[in-house]
Amino acid sequence: KNLNDEEISHLALDIGGTLVKMVCFLTNSNSFETSRISDCIEFLSSKKLQRCCTLFFFCFLSGLGLGKYWSSYPATGGGAFKFAELFKEKLGIALDKADEMDCLVSGANFLLKVVQCEAFAYMDGKKEYIQIDQNDLYPYLLVNIGSGVSMIKVDGEDKFQRVSGTSVGGGTFLGLGKLLTNCKSFDDLLELSHQGNNRVIDMLVGDIYDGLDYSKIGLTSNTIASSFGKAITEHKELEDYKPEDIARSLLSHQGNLKTNNLSTNQVFCKALVIAYLNALRFGLKRIFFGGVFIRGHAYTMNTISVAVDFWSKGEAKAMFLRHEGFLGALGAFTSCER
Ligand code: ADP
Repeated sequence: KNLNDEEISHLALDIGGTLVKMVCFLTNSNSFETSRISDCIEFLSSKKLQRCCTLFFFCFLSGLGLGKYWSSYPATGGGAFKFAELFKEKLGIALDKADEMDCLVSGANFLLKVVQCEAFAYMDGKKEYIQIDQNDLYPYLLVNIGSGVSMIKVDGEDKFQRVSGTSVGGGTFLGLGKLLTNCKSFDDLLELSHQGNNRVIDMLVGDIYDGLDYSKIGLTSNTIASSFGKAITEHKELEDYKPEDIARSLLSHQGNLKTNNLSTNQVFCKALVIAYLNALRFGLKRIFFGGVFIRGHAYTMNTISVAVDFWSKGEAKAMFLRHEGFLGALGAFTSCER
């Protein structure tokens, strides 16, 4: 609503598997579900955003005020290909496609170099903003948790390599959650999970060991041995489980940390292990986590931080970005200038 009242002079899009992210020349930003791309088009149409971005930059630099027409929007993500025709047809505007990995990296570099108080570490509910020394920014590992997960080793301004990834990402959590609980949105699913008890569905070490710990390898009786494992042996149907317990089980995963009885989300447990192994493989001390899946959630960030600290014995540090979901859109935005 706020955005509707504001004047937009320049914008770029990142149309991903789940969400459309938009960055505009304003203090505000917004996101739409990709399945509602028509809302995004309607919004852009209502704003009559038909200005040419090169003209905008020319005018901006020369102090002449804004130009008149957009001929294209910079856009990244698979949707820049998938919906190009739709934008042409409905708005008469082309999508200027920018490579997704290029945009993620240039968006992250832009934030880390230009924006004050952007990067922070998170531990025990506390944010600690970190001033990054620009001469000591590279190399770092960028882990973007969106619908799927990409891991990119960044060595310089335009020097990077996608070193790994996993298809078990935010889309997996949301997709399974929608199927199993009838939740309609990500926020409903998270909210529901807070009310549930995963032990009703997950098979714990104590379920197998007659209530005992498996202390020899440091597993307490309440450690999850098999996610959703109780559903194998109990003769129950899906309807016999409470949706909140299913949501909680989707969120929980035994992090295999001896000293911390840490439950980690199924999604980022896998992403975390791969991220950590890649940080180890390339000797990287800093891991930045991005993607809308994180979205500033305390539980998510705390788990990631504790796990990275534990696995690396304090050598590596997990870091987060204030604008974590907008790396791609920002990269597309700045691609106009580049
Ligand atoms: P993509 O570019 O692939 O769309 P994003 O970085 O936008 O990826 O992250 C999408 C993921 O973020 C979803 O799969 C979901 O797990 C999570 N998410 C967080 N907030 C929302 C929301 N409001 N609606 C849908 N998904 C959300």
